[in-house]
Amino acid sequence: MESLCTSQVVFPPTVSSGHDVSCKDLEQRLSSRFFPSSGISHSRPDTEDISLCYANRSASLFHLGQYELCLEDIVRAQMHGYPERLQCKIMLRKAECLVNLGRLQEARQAISDLESNLTAKSTLAVSPCQTLQRNLHHLKMKMQEEKNPPETSDALTKAFEDMDLREENKQISKASLCVSLCTDPLKGRCLVATRDIHPGELLVKEDAFVSVLNPGELLPLHLGLENKWDTRVANVDLYCHRCLKHTLATVPCSGCSYAKYCSQECMQQAWEHYHSTECSLGGLLLTLGVFCHLALRLTLLARFEDVDRVVRKLCDETDNKDICLSGNKNLVKTFNYTNFRESEEKSKIVETPIPGCNVNGKYENNYNAVFNLLSHTEKHSPEHKFLCAVSVSALCRQLEAASLQAQTTGLKSSKLKAAVTPGLCADFTLWGVAMLRHMLQLQCNAQAITSIQHTGSRESIITNSRQIRLATGIFPVVSLLNHSCSPNTSVSFTSTVATVRAAQQIGKGQEIVHCYGPHESRMGVAERQQRLRSQYFFDCSCPACRTEALGAAAGPRWEAFCCNTCRALMQGGAVLSCGNRSCMESVNRDRLVSHLQDLQQQVYMAQRLLRDGKLEEAILQLLGCQEDAESFLSAEHAMVGEIEDGLAQAYAALGDWQKSATHLRKSLRVVEARHGPSSVEIGHELFKLAQVLFNGFAVPEALNAVEKAEKVLLMHCDPESDEIQELQEMKSYLLDLSHIPVVPLV
Ligand SMILES: [Zn+2]
Ligand SMILES: [Zn+2]
Ligand SMILES: [Zn+2]
Ligand SMILES: [Zn+2]
Repeated sequence: MESLCTSQVVFPPTVSSGHDVSCKDLEQRLSSRFFPSSGISHSRPDTEDISLCYANRSASLFHLGQYELCLEDIVRAQMHGYPERLQCKIMLRKAECLVNLGRLQEARQAISDLESNLTAKSTLAVSPCQTLQRNLHHLKMKMQEEKNPPETSDALTKAFEDMDLREENKQISKASLCVSLCTDPLKGRCLVATRDIHPGELLVKEDAFVSVLNPGELLPLHLGLENKWDTRVANVDLYCHRCLKHTLATVPCSGCSYAKYCSQECMQQAWEHYHSTECSLGGLLLTLGVFCHLALRLTLLARFEDVDRVVRKLCDETDNKDICLSGNKNLVKTFNYTNFRESEEKSKIVETPIPGCNVNGKYENNYNAVFNLLSHTEKHSPEHKFLCAVSVSALCRQLEAASLQAQTTGLKSSKLKAAVTPGLCADFTLWGVAMLRHMLQLQCNAQAITSIQHTGSRESIITNSRQIRLATGIFPVVSLLNHSCSPNTSVSFTSTVATVRAAQQIGKGQEIVHCYGPHESRMGVAERQQRLRSQYFFDCSCPACRTEALGAAAGPRWEAFCCNTCRALMQGGAVLSCGNRSCMESVNRDRLVSHLQDLQQQVYMAQRLLRDGKLEEAILQLLGCQEDAESFLSAEHAMVGEIEDGLAQAYAALGDWQKSATHLRKSLRVVEARHGPSSVEIGHELFKLAQVLFNGFAVPEALNAVEKAEKVLLMHCDPESDEIQELQEMKSYLLDLSHIPVVPLV
């Protein structure tokens, strides 16, 4: 059995719940920058049209944080006869701008204007009014905060903050005291709990040794939005190429059109550490892909820890100098070297110190640890190895050419000077060896850096969220965690920092594991095993795999069909028969699969209606789907969850909070069956439920949902994250409310 010290990258990351979510807010920000303006230039003055255009543009400006300009547009909208029925909205925006600008006196006036407008209006439909009331409340709270700086928040959050690795582990840097590094004869290095660990406890907090922004992914459009102008933007335009911070106003590199940064400082740092070399290689790096880029950047960063020393030392140790240092430029030969190294590691695993540790036995986030991550050289296919070798040699040639050119052109610019730092031109063969090793390590050790993206604008009622893959990085300490299809930890990221928290109770002596991608809630045991074998070269024997392999007949419940007559689960392969022995029902799998596809189509149409604001039609359509689903899908089928979620959204938009909550609870049940009761997915669902109940002023229920959501999300997210902050705001408001008798609004 192989030792595993790896993390995932190739598998798609968790998408929060499979529900329709999109980055509406962002798109709105970007596309509305163009459209409302063009509307204004095409509308006649003093018409409702032009006033609406100004109002819309003011909304865009508001989202962009341009409050002064926003106020100007609000004045214009009101000048051009903004309709009375919509006044409240724009008045609220005005007040928000004033608060954000710190003009509190004027803000107070604007709020009291708005309040008198609200009371004067008995005609206003209940739901928008409640949303307004809620926003107004938020605003007032914000004004309070401006006056008195925020007090220390909830005790629970405090406790979590305190655990910010105050006392670092002496054996493993960046890890908590409650974990220790061990070696297991079967699994190799692993992390084990030194005491009982509670859910939510911080275990590892590590900055990436290296990371590279993923260039390729365009942010998705609304499914229904067929826009003629491709206003989509990619990661590369929105996130700092060094620290991965989200930013709309990037500082571009002056030497290339690709690299962009959040600040002058990040640009400078990147330049000094790696970009001075990468800048001229831009096109080649994009062609060769992220892994190659990572391998180069790793080696560039290692200059500061002396890559020569690390590689030479390892060569000396293995007594195998000839192969990589005798001037033999054949890079493919180095496979023998790495091969030898690994087999030797295995044989001496007991007596030698743990690989990657320094002389004192400490494991750190450094190049030595990275270099010791396993490359599984003998297990990669010849094609893969060939491709890696070709890529690396292409890079080396280019580097050589660049440094030669820099020398001959007399170092005109300071940029080129930086590109020929002594470490770089010293020995390209050595660099090739290191880069090739990194290329091979990456398949098993690269970690996808993800980010939760919140969707839905400030005004929308329910916040959705989804996970996007931002970058690929190497985290030597996180890499010590072995895989399980039902992990006991949860990993999240804030810019380039990975945080590993316990997602459940972990007993003393138990291994700490995380999931490399194939999670039991996303695929069946056969598919997981196949993926782990082909990417990570091992057979998974985690508890989930063992139990599922025993009773593999039925498959997961979120994919299960049920009997049309008796509702028992159907079992079997190509022909499914009812699990209930007294029932004779049987059916072809193909028929059910095509039925499911039809249903998917119907649900898709309903979601479209929902997006277009045709709420009643959407509800009718979804109720039809619900009935259809009941006839052949298990109650925990993913599709059932999607339908219930759609209904919940539609009723929320209509202001029917009660119905919305009922459907959300059903959707919650599906998500729980699939992802487990303390999963991040459940956290997001509970957050939605809390929002709905909050809007419906169902105080005790809302409080209950808020607390549950908070508890679950704190296991996965930073206490400073938007969701946790909003939950705490809701909680304090609800607690206030529950002390005074509830007065119906308006
Ligand atoms: Zn930055
Ligand atoms: Zn550049
Ligand atoms: Zn498994
Ligand atoms: Zn039956």
